Amino acid sequence: MPGFEIINYKEKKAINDIFDKNGGVLFAHGYEKLRKKFHVREFEKNISRKFKIKNSLVVSSGTAAIKIALKSLGIKSGDEVITQSFNFIATIEAIIDTGAKPIICGIDKNLNMDINDLQKKISKKTKAIIPVHMLGQSVEIDKIVSIAKKNKLFVVEDNCESVGGKFRDKHLGTFGHLGILSFDFGKTITTGEGGAILTNNSKLFKICKEYHDHGHKNSKNLTRGNDIRSRVGFNYRMTELQAAIGKVQLKKLNFILKNNKKRYFELFKNLSKKFFIRKDIKHSRGINDTFIFLVEKKNTREKIIKILKKYKIGTKNLPDAIKWHCSYYWNHAMEKKQIKNSKTSKEILNKYISIPIFINKPLKTYRNLSEEISNIN
Ligand SMILES: *Cc1c(COP(=O)(O)O)cnc(C)c1O
Repeated sequence: MPGFEIINYKEKKAINDIFDKNGGVLFAHGYEKLRKKFHVREFEKNISRKFKIKNSLVVSSGTAAIKIALKSLGIKSGDEVITQSFNFIATIEAIIDTGAKPIICGIDKNLNMDINDLQKKISKKTKAIIPVHMLGQSVEIDKIVSIAKKNKLFVVEDNCESVGGKFRDKHLGTFGHLGILSFDFGKTITTGEGGAILTNNSKLFKICKEYHDHGHKNSKNLTRGNDIRSRVGFNYRMTELQAAIGKVQLKKLNFILKNNKKRYFELFKNLSKKFFIRKDIKHSRGINDTFIFLVEKKNTREKIIKILKKYKIGTKNLPDAIKWHCSYYWNHAMEKKQIKNSKTSKEILNKYISIPIFINKPLKTYRNLSEEISNIN
């Protein structure tokens, strides 16, 4: 699952090199004469190449990335942004922080954004949709993009949880007007904290870049101190330390995906005979970092959860961290009507169990786990 499992001498060397070899400047902008490397700019270039996108901007967190993306689209107070009930609180916070109102859309049996409900939630105030590729799997991104097009809405594609996943052989996060990645401590690749915005739209990219750096235009012929202010911005910059780690982690992505898949398959082999497994939608390839299945009987669910605790694996978001991942629980952030819209989703999610895939745990652990769960009666 997460990149933190395989942080080793390579990340440590990258950090040491900043001080020993690269000139030691930790800030991403300027100081050309003192330093030999710009890790942030290199990390961005590597991301663009890996995910086949024109522009990438790395920032301080995935949450910040969503907010910056919404700001670049001009989302403001009075606007509505639709996102889904199975989610992470960050998406809601980013919407609220722009002054807009989050509107909750339900989920289908595969736990993805429900396309029918999405269409019902579009109003005159709707400006954007944020579909979320939850826990390693693609939403029906082609359908969502076409609904958005028809209604003249923006799509900000939250791919914080499925970095490396694909739809029709194209990387998730590259379908919307803007795509979002997260590199926080629990994500597929990590920089401790961090995020990225991907876009093929150079105009939006420029706004994002200026906004995340106090409105700096970064004019070529001006010093930073004399630079032109394009707008009121904020500081959401990534540091060189984070980017140096990120460059190493990005190279490990394929290794992570390959090892996820082996462990996932051990679970699938036995459990698919007994349970409904949340599947990758047609034409998509998930990242296999979470195994999610439906267990109708409460009694059976409790037995399985007990086994997962015994193996020191736990159940990740379902049900362990459900309160952070289902909008039904977010009455501190949203009006009653939106909470009500989330009730059915809560009832669906309550019947699922999610098993996190740890690549530092041997294949045999997942094999035994799988057998033990499938022997429950
Ligand atoms: C992790 C996550 C975020 C935000 O990422 P941070 O980098 O932790 O701020 C946003 N959306 C989803 C769905 C996430 O899982």
